[in-house]
Amino acid sequence: LVRFDGVTKRFGTNTVLDNLDFSVAPGKHVTLIGPSGSGKTTILRLLMTLLRPDEGTISVDGEYLTHETKNGKLVPAGDRHVREVRKKIGMVFQQFNLFPNMKVLRNVMEAPVHVLGMSKDEAEQRARDLLDLVGLADKADAYPTHLSGGQQQRVAIARALAMRPQVLLLDEVTSALDPELVAGVLDVLRNIATTTDITMLIVTHEMSFARDISDDVLMFDKGRVIESGPPAKIFTEPENERTREFLSAVL
Ligand code: ATP
Repeated sequence: LVRFDGVTKRFGTNTVLDNLDFSVAPGKHVTLIGPSGSGKTTILRLLMTLLRPDEGTISVDGEYLTHETKNGKLVPAGDRHVREVRKKIGMVFQQFNLFPNMKVLRNVMEAPVHVLGMSKDEAEQRARDLLDLVGLADKADAYPTHLSGGQQQRVAIARALAMRPQVLLLDEVTSALDPELVAGVLDVLRNIATTTDITMLIVTHEMSFARDISDDVLMFDKGRVIESGPPAKIFTEPENERTREFLSAVL
């Protein structure tokens, strides 16, 4: 469903992703791990089209995010094409980025109504169902600032799902939370992973969460995947020396 082919991304002379190839099959939950600076967040930012690659192609659900076909030729994607393909992708950030001047319900309804053109009634029903899914049905009329960080993050998850993305990107979604609020957010994500067929790409430092939620783990170092496989294998018998060093530092 998500595919990187020969993707290179540089910032000045710093090659952050180096001819990277990987793919994620539909419905799979894949966690990216690796040392700080290894390029994990850059991958999510490329998928969100906040960045463009210097080389290579990225596709989602069989459509290029980076390119489009014009007169039978593959050319760099225009804004309109990017916006269409990007609708397949939802993202939750470390900082929840809710709209502070809107009640929780409106935060979740806003994009479906304004971007997808969904009717207000349908968007509201869907928003209420999603708030129920994240355990916040009773907070629909609260303002974000009256919620805990964990609750705000659960609203951000509902808001991302409201767009019916095929892929959900989760970038360190518990890093900004007080420790006692982390478990509630991870439980919501586990529930979504087991009850929906959404594809997930996860960057996290929560290794026990990565272990339970992932079908596959990709270990990054210096902009390349140096080892990949099911969590039972990567976490217990990694083959690569760099993976072993990384895990012994974080586990
Ligand atoms: P972390 O676990 O610390 O979040 P990461 O694996 O997600 O690390 P990235 O955030 O993808 O790493 O960053 C990879 C490299 O790219 C780093 O060396 C970083 O300094 C550099 N980098 C990222 N964004 C930019 C930018 N906008 N301009 C210049 N350099 C950048």
